[in-house]
Amino acid sequence: MPKPITPDVVVAYGLCPRKAYLLLCTEEHGVPHEYQLVVAADQRRNQASFFNSLTQTLGDHPDCRGTHAGPRRGDRAAVVLEAPDCEAYCDHLTPALRQTAARGRRDEPTLVTGTHRITHDQRLALLFVGYVLGQPQSALPSFGSLLGLDGRVHKLSLDERRYSELRAILDALRLWLQALSPHAPPVVLNRHCSVCQFRADCRAQAERDDGLSLLERMTPRARRRYHERGTFSVTQLSYMFRPRRKRKPSSGSAVKTFSSCRRSRCAPVRLTCTNHLRSSVMSPRSS
Ligand code: SF4
Repeated sequence: MPKPITPDVVVAYGLCPRKAYLLLCTEEHGVPHEYQLVVAADQRRNQASFFNSLTQTLGDHPDCRGTHAGPRRGDRAAVVLEAPDCEAYCDHLTPALRQTAARGRRDEPTLVTGTHRITHDQRLALLFVGYVLGQPQSALPSFGSLLGLDGRVHKLSLDERRYSELRAILDALRLWLQALSPHAPPVVLNRHCSVCQFRADCRAQAERDDGLSLLERMTPRARRRYHERGTFSVTQLSYMFRPRRKRKPSSGSAVKTFSSCRRSRCAPVRLTCTNHLRSSVMSPRSS
C-alpha cells in the first residue's frame, strides 16, 4: 500500500527531490542529525506548554484532541487531517474570523514550531496542512498561524499563488505514487546534506558516481553547463584543467608590475603603471 503524502515529504521535496523520494517510496529512515533532534525536542516542549494553556482556556472541551471528520463546531487540538493520498497533523484548528454562509464553515490551522525564527520549510508545511484541511471544506483556508518557541504567533497569508506552487510539488509526488517502479532522482549534494538523515549513503553514492556535486563550489547552473558540454564527472573535469600561463615581464619594459614597483610611492595607486603615470603621480608628492 503506498504511503500518504505528509508535510515532511512536501518539505523534503523543496529541499531535495531525492530526499522526498526516499521518504515516500522507500522504507529507509536514515540517521537523524543532532540538530534535527534538538529542534524536535524543542517542538515537543513548546507543544506541551501550548496544550497546557489551551486546556486551561477550554477546560475539558469535548472537541479537544480528536480526529478530523468533517465540519464540527469550536476549536480542536491535535487533529489528524486526511484527504485522498494525503495526511497531515495539525496542532490547533480555529474557526476562521470571516465566515460566509454561502461558502460554509471554514477553519484555519495553527502549527507549533521548535524554533524562534519562522523558516521557509515551516511555511510550506503550514501550506500543506491548509491544503489538506481545505479538501472536506468548501474552500481552502486563507490564513494560518505558526507559534514560535518565543511564544509569538505568526499569522501568515495562504493565498492562491502559494497553493499553485504546492500543487506543482504534489503533482510530482503523485507521479511517483502512480508509477509501478519510479526512478530515484540522482544524488546531487547540496547545502541541506549536512543535516539530512540520508547524508552518509548519499555521500558514498556521490563518491562512487564521481559526480560534479562533490565539488563544493559547483553551482547548479555551472553543473548544468558542464552536463551540456558532456562533462559529468570530476575525473572528466580534471582533464579540462589548463594552468594559467604567467606573463614574463621583459627587462627594460616601459610597463612595471605591482611587485616590481612595490617600494615606490605609486604602488598604492595602481597595480600596473607606465613611466608616464609614474611621473605624473609622483611629481606632486616630490614637490
Ligand atoms: S543527503 Fe543530500 S542528496 Fe541525499 S537525500 Fe539528503 S539532501 Fe538529498
